[in-house]
Amino acid sequence: AIPLVVAINTSLAARNGMLIRDRIAMEEARDLDTIVFDKTGTLTKGEQGVVDVETVGNVDAEEALALAATVEGDSEHMIAQAVRDAAAERGVTTRTATNFEALKGRGVRATVDGDTVYVGGPNLLSHLDADVPSALASFAERAGENAQTVVYLVREPSNGRAGATRHASREGELVAAFALADVVREESYQVVDALHELGIEVAMLTGDSEDVAHAVADDLGIDTVFAEVLPEDKDEKVSELQEEGKSVAMVGDGVNDAPALTRADIGIAIGSGTDVAVQSADIILVQNNPLDVVRLVKLSRASYRKMQ
Ligand code: ADP
Ligand code: MG
Repeated sequence: AIPLVVAINTSLAARNGMLIRDRIAMEEARDLDTIVFDKTGTLTKGEQGVVDVETVGNVDAEEALALAATVEGDSEHMIAQAVRDAAAERGVTTRTATNFEALKGRGVRATVDGDTVYVGGPNLLSHLDADVPSALASFAERAGENAQTVVYLVREPSNGRAGATRHASREGELVAAFALADVVREESYQVVDALHELGIEVAMLTGDSEDVAHAVADDLGIDTVFAEVLPEDKDEKVSELQEEGKSVAMVGDGVNDAPALTRADIGIAIGSGTDVAVQSADIILVQNNPLDVVRLVKLSRASYRKMQ
């Protein structure tokens, strides 16, 4: 039989928009030491739009947007949507892409007019080992200071063209960078303060750059930051905290967050989370409101205090 207190607690939870897939997790929530949040789409609203474009060489902003929007044509990422919107707003015509491939946690790749073209963030650059022209480096630095996410456009010309027009190298060439402005959710400030009052540490886990991560974390008063983390490494960061003897919850919405949700003592999927995230979570916060994380801890503490 289900203990009465648990039954009451689960229906109370349900009334508050919390779906409990694992009742033990609900009980354990009172003992959490650290809560790790995914940044994009969880603490922030998700990418809002392209606010700036910088190009090098003979590529102009329109051409860069056309190429980027073409490569992003099939991606479901919020960044891809923002790039496509920016191209559409400027009336830029996209071209045809083939061999589209999503590079998890890095970006996308496709073939356009025979060239291999990439769009992606800092994790893509380290993957490609590409040099960043100084104009794009300072553009990225400025954007980072303003907590803007930067993605790069990289072109790898096909052999023939490369020989004809530039050095006979097959290396990718960075031709443009885009700055995207995201907005911190109003509730996120209250979440961090309230969790601190409950004696819980707050951490952020993101695939975005160190610059952006620290700008957002400083703004919110977050204690620990893990940035430029590849999807396959996210669960390791949760383990690191657990190895310090901490009881850890992970809050996220994306496919990329699934292993970390599984690894955490309590996995919490938020809002319109992807199916994979929802299936990996112990608790699902139906309303897309990070404040429900605070309610969850308070509800757990109130419900289980008597049982100790
Ligand atoms: P987060 O951890 O912030 O939720 P993701 O793991 O989804 O982010 O992506 C990590 C990083 O990979 C992004 O910040 C971006 O730099 C890059 N990226 C992923 N998908 C795309 C895409 N479709 N277009 C451009 N960049 C992308
Ligand atoms: Mg995310």
